[in-house]
Amino acid sequence: MSAVLQQPMALPTGSLAEAPLLEVQHLRKYFGSGAHPVRAVDDVSFTIRQGETLGLVGESGSGKSTIGRLLTRLVDPTGGQILYHGAGAAQDLAALSQGQYRPLRSKIQIIFQDPYASLNPRMRIREVLAEALDTHGLAKGRARLPRIHELLQQVGLRTEHADRFPHEFSGGQRQRIGIARALAVEPKFIVADEPLSALDVSIQAQVVNLLGELKEQLGLTLLFISHDLDVVEYLCDRVVVLYLGRVMEIAPTEALYANPQHPYTRALLAAAPIPDPAQRRSIPLLQGDLPSPAHPPSGCVFRTRCPLAEERCASTDMLLREVQPGHLHACWKTAHHPTSP
Ligand code: ADP
Ligand code: MG
Repeated sequence: MSAVLQQPMALPTGSLAEAPLLEVQHLRKYFGSGAHPVRAVDDVSFTIRQGETLGLVGESGSGKSTIGRLLTRLVDPTGGQILYHGAGAAQDLAALSQGQYRPLRSKIQIIFQDPYASLNPRMRIREVLAEALDTHGLAKGRARLPRIHELLQQVGLRTEHADRFPHEFSGGQRQRIGIARALAVEPKFIVADEPLSALDVSIQAQVVNLLGELKEQLGLTLLFISHDLDVVEYLCDRVVVLYLGRVMEIAPTEALYANPQHPYTRALLAAAPIPDPAQRRSIPLLQGDLPSPAHPPSGCVFRTRCPLAEERCASTDMLLREVQPGHLHACWKTAHHPTSP
């Protein structure tokens, strides 16, 4: 695993890699009504550039999946904008009704942790993929079977797999089917929500490498949600660190791992690399409980668990500040004291 992970992948270069595909601005999702809704995502802003792999990390309950579901409009936002630069003028996905969003659904796909849960056990893989193609009116008639075979080959499966049922596959193969189903509709952008979590460590690297290869081949843009800090370091160009529905830090991957700025990011990365190559760095359990997102702390939401917290943190608004080009974080205390490299 670690040997595979240590081979760096070529990063996209040139102006295309800089142009935004999605601009998330002040995005909010509150669940429930009344005085104390669950603030799953609270004023989150970040950009996803064309052709990049953006990592999204944070403890369980920090709002990662909700962001993934907002970008794919599986849930409706409470507020904010999701500017999509597909073809032509930018569209605000957050402002579209479900009906208006439908034509864009093929461009923005999501793959989940457990592909088995979303595969109908009575459908052959051929039918699963055909259904995806039908939904968007793609590859009709005689073009159908060759397209299904092409999709299977793209994800490392064989053409004869088309006639099998989901239970006949291993976990890794099922995740490949989930990826094939997402690719069937020719997306530009894929949200991968913890796509490795249900897989044996021994096959995680294969799926990571498949995602990396497909991204390059097909010119995809990826949002990669994970609690595996090593895989994120390997696969992602930039990383967004989330805590209690808020962005703590955004940086190019190398800068984030070499020089984390926010006390929360530092806590996440503080755990020394594990010498056993079979084990990998995962989001550690931090001291103290995650506050309820229905009752977030005032000021900086991390302050109740922060080693540097002082009185002012309870009243200071959290604003993302840029400390290096492209490196932003939301702690006023460390803002002017970058650690030495
Ligand atoms: P993560 O993926 O980082 O673990 P989630 O986005 O799943 O976090 O959840 C963020 C917060 O929103 C959690 O407190 C979770 O309980 C809450 N939440 C997520 N979905 C719902 C829902 N459908 N209804 C109510 N609360 C929800
Ligand atoms: Mg999740």
